[in-house]
Order: sequence, then structure tokens, then C-alpha cells
Amino acid sequence: MFVVTTLYTAVVRRACIAGVLFLVSIACRDSPPSDPPRAAAPPSLLLITVDTLRADRVGAYGDVSARTPAIDALAARGALFTNAFSVAPITLTSHASLLTGRYPAGHGARHNGMRVDLAVPTIAGSLSRAGLVTGAFVAAFPLDRRFGLIKGFQTYGDTMPRGPDGRPANERAGRVVVDEAVGWLEQHRSERFFLWVHLFEPHAPYGDARGGRPAQARYADEIREADRQVARLTDALGGARDSTIVAFTSDHGEAFGEHGEIAHSVFVYDTTLRVPLILAGPGIAHRTVDVPVSLVDLAPTVMRLLGAGAFDADGVDLGPALAGTALAGRTLYAESFAPLLDFGWSPLRAVRTGGWKYIAAPRPELYRVATDAAESINALGGERQRATAMQAETDRYSGTALPAGRTTDRETAARLQALGYVSGGRSGATRPDPKDRRAVAARIAQVTSGELHGPALERMLLRILEDDPRNPLANLRLGYVLLESNRCARALPRFRAAIEAGYPSADAHLGLAGCQAAGRDFTGATATLRAADATEPGNPVVLANLGLMLSDGGTPEAAINPLQRALTTDPELHQARFGLAIAFARTGRRTEAANEARELLRRLPATSPQRAEVERLLRAIQ
Ligand SMILES: [Zn+2]
Repeated sequence: MFVVTTLYTAVVRRACIAGVLFLVSIACRDSPPSDPPRAAAPPSLLLITVDTLRADRVGAYGDVSARTPAIDALAARGALFTNAFSVAPITLTSHASLLTGRYPAGHGARHNGMRVDLAVPTIAGSLSRAGLVTGAFVAAFPLDRRFGLIKGFQTYGDTMPRGPDGRPANERAGRVVVDEAVGWLEQHRSERFFLWVHLFEPHAPYGDARGGRPAQARYADEIREADRQVARLTDALGGARDSTIVAFTSDHGEAFGEHGEIAHSVFVYDTTLRVPLILAGPGIAHRTVDVPVSLVDLAPTVMRLLGAGAFDADGVDLGPALAGTALAGRTLYAESFAPLLDFGWSPLRAVRTGGWKYIAAPRPELYRVATDAAESINALGGERQRATAMQAETDRYSGTALPAGRTTDRETAARLQALGYVSGGRSGATRPDPKDRRAVAARIAQVTSGELHGPALERMLLRILEDDPRNPLANLRLGYVLLESNRCARALPRFRAAIEAGYPSADAHLGLAGCQAAGRDFTGATATLRAADATEPGNPVVLANLGLMLSDGGTPEAAINPLQRALTTDPELHQARFGLAIAFARTGRRTEAANEARELLRRLPATSPQRAEVERLLRAIQ
């Protein structure tokens, strides 16, 4: 007989891992056969973004220990921008600005999980309309098609691998992404194309932390692997190489303790804003460009290089800089709304102009970045007038609040609502300054990075909760650490605390229900799962667990509807289908039970160990 409770727990755990990590993871140098070289026709575009890549970890940017030959080769034949800055240290926000040429306020995706305003033009949309074939292959869930970057791409490869239970992972290997992209290139190399490839290797966790190798060494290893994949891509251009503009960049950097920061997302220091930017291809001479530029400049620049005309953007065409002409002085903007959306702290906004950088915060900061690139001396005291002017300039790009119309999607609304636990009706001016919370932010970043495991993870979570007892994320994660080590009595209050603090997803409910089920409190678990369904309506993992619980609790007829709803949203949720077959069998609906079991066999991989159990069920039904 199928053991419902075992699989039930498995589903609960997977749900947590997927959800929590999100809120928060060879080279074949043979060139493909060459197509005949083409005349000076308008070029194609290959955009490569390596997530979380600091400029100063690339050989071409001066890191003598870097192992980045493919990126360096691009720089050797193209233009390298030594002072390129992201608009936000956040994956979706930054990529949305790359593809729209707009600052975050212009496209609306101020954080991962929000949606890009579909009314805003993208280079993919414009190039597709101009007759180019368009394809994108991405390596991580924050860029999933549901968040809107699919717009204008005829092909959008964002399918993440699934575990044995059918739950999708949050990221996939660059090797797999590039396999897909190269397959696409082989089909379209002889046409005009726009191909965007996103690699996730340098993002935490950096490789396998268990060997004790230091984080920065593992980070460098991941960059090396990303570089191997860049080589495979540029090699795959084959005969199209001479007619393809290659744009190489990253969405943001990574902090290893600078300014007390770990990883990225909260602060807007250049540690996480400075990125590599290289343009290579027909008509681009080799040169180094030192003038500060922003990722919003890429869209108007490549559109002109592709002969697609002017592109309405916040950024400017960098064409003059590529030709060796100075660019007019201007202001560059960057922000992070992660402090507000994740913690209820003040957002951070920054402008850079004339060698100065101003960070608008409850306690503002001013750095003379022309001579203090590390942003180590706050020059605000002696530069009041400059600071006042730069504050006014910052406000022209964005206020401290998010416009209501842009945040109406359910997930974001729930996030904002959840902030009650820290914001407590505070106005923007009196929210905590993130730099006054940098220690707790660094601890949370270590938790969400996936770098900590076992007792080290537990100690870190307890430390966060000493400082901030109601922190919903820390309570949730500690709950799962305790649940997974069979300490449910201690886990229960943690999950309850996370729910009370308004944790904006069903993960805390799923953990609580898991503990209740382990303690054989099936009535309590069912009630918790119904509450989870209200918190996050339509979440297939909640529905699957609710169905399994009802079926196991003696009401299989009531289980059928939630299980079917779970499978409508996610047909690959194998436990739900197995549970549905059982629920049908228990209610005497043998034909439907057999149909679901056969469908499951059709979907399970040939090597799946679960097949034997499904085959046993099928024999029992017949
Ligand atoms: Zn990123």
C-alpha cells in the first residue's frame, strides 16, 4: 500500500526549499561548420548576462588570477567599459532595465517576484517586429516567463529541472542553458537573430561549500565555469561571428563583507552595482571607455548598432563613446527597494554625477567616487549644498514609496501587507536605515545564500532571532531546520510566529501542517492547509497536501477536487497524481483511478524508482 504520509512530508519539504530559496542556484572548443561569410548586412545580436559577476573578478578588468579567457577575448576585440553600473542589485529589476532601457520606476519590476509592465517597449519586441528571430534562454526562476521578460521573444527557454517528486528547481546549470541556446543558434545562425543567454553560476551558493574551500575561491570557480559556457556560445556563432554584435554584462555584483554586506540586494554601494560591460562585433573598434555608463544605456546602444533606429529609453546611445568621442556629462540612477519589500526598512536610492555619488537614505551618504571608489569616506558634512542638490535629483527619478498601480499583483500586495510586523505604520522618513541593520541583513543574506547548513545554519538563525524575534523569514527557516531534524515540538511555535508576522506565502503553513501531521493531528493539519489555501490561493503544493490529507483522513471524495486543482496548475506534480489515483480508487471510481495511474507512468522518467509503486497500484485497481 502506498504510504501517503511519507510522500506528504516530502512534498511539504520540497515546497519550502523551493519557496524559501527563491525569496531569497566540458567546454567543447570545436567550432561548428562555418556558414559562408555575409556582406555588411545589418548585424545580429547575442546578449550574454552572467548573474552576480563583479567586474573586478574578470581578467580583462585587471584580475590577474581570473580564469576568464573567453570574456577576455571579447574585450580584446571590442569595447570595454571600465565604469559600468547596474540600476539595482536585483536580478529581475536589472534585467528588465537591460531589455527596456528604463530605470526600475519605468518598468515597474522593483524586486524579484514583481511583474514587468507589459506596456513598456522591449528591445526583443522591437527587434522581433523588425524581422529578427528572437530567442532567450535563462538559468534561474527570477527570470521565469511569468514576470514578463518573455515579451518579444519567440522562444523563451526557462524550464527548470524537476526533482523526483516533480517540483521544479530554482536554477539550472549554464551547460544546460547553453546546450539549448546552441541548438537554437544552429537553427537560426543564417538568419538575423537576437539571442539572450543568462548564466547563473556565480550566484550563491558558490559550488559545494562542504569541502571547506573559502567562498571567494568557490566564487572564482563558478566564474570560470560561466566563462567556459561563454566560450561555447561565441564558438557556436561560427560564420555568423563577423555579423553579430556580442554584448556581455552582468546584472549586479556581489559583496564579500564590504560595507558589512554579504551577497547582494539590500545596499547600493558599487560593490554590487559595478558590473562588466563589453561590446564586440562589426563596426566596434577595440578600446577602453572610462566614462560612467549605466545598464539602461545598453538598449538604445544596441538598437542603433543593429540599425533599428532610436529607442525610447532612460539611457543614452553609447555610440559616440564607441567611436572615441566623449559622452556629455549626465546623472546615473540606481536603487534597491529590497530593504522595503523584504524587511520594511527604508529603500535606498542613489545618483552619480560629476565624480560624486549620493545615497538617499534616512542618514544620507555622499562619496567622492572619482577619488574614493571604495566609498569609504562620507563627505556629506562638508558638502551640504551638493548633497541637497543631489537629493533633489534623486527624487526626480523615484520617491521612497512604490506607486499603487504597479504593486497590485497579489504576491507583492501580500509582501507589502506583511511589512506591518516591522513598519508598524511608520512613514517613509522614519523607517530604519538599512545601514543601521547591516549586521542582521548580513546574517539573513548568509541564510538565504544557501551557504550555511546544519548546526551553523541553526546558530545563525537563532542569532537573527535574538536581534529580531519576530523576523518571519528567520522563524520560517528555523522551523524547517527543526522539522527536518524531527524536533517538531520546537518547530511549531516558529511556524506560528512566521504566520503571525504575516509571512507572505504558504510556506509557514506548510511547515506547520507538516509538524501537525507528524504529530498525528490531522484535523489541525487540514485546518492549517485550508488557511494556507486562503493565504496563497491556487498554490499547487498546498492543494496537493490538502488533498492527500483529506484522502488519508477518511474523506477521499473531498480530496479529489483539490488534487485536480493542483494538477491543473502543475501537471508534473507527481505525488498529487498518485494521490488522485488513490482517492479515485478509494471512492470506487476504478476507471478514473487507472487512467491517472497510467498518465503518471507516461510522465515519470523510465528510470524513476516511483514507477514500481505506481505499477503495483495499477495492478491492485485492475
Ligand atoms: Zn542576479
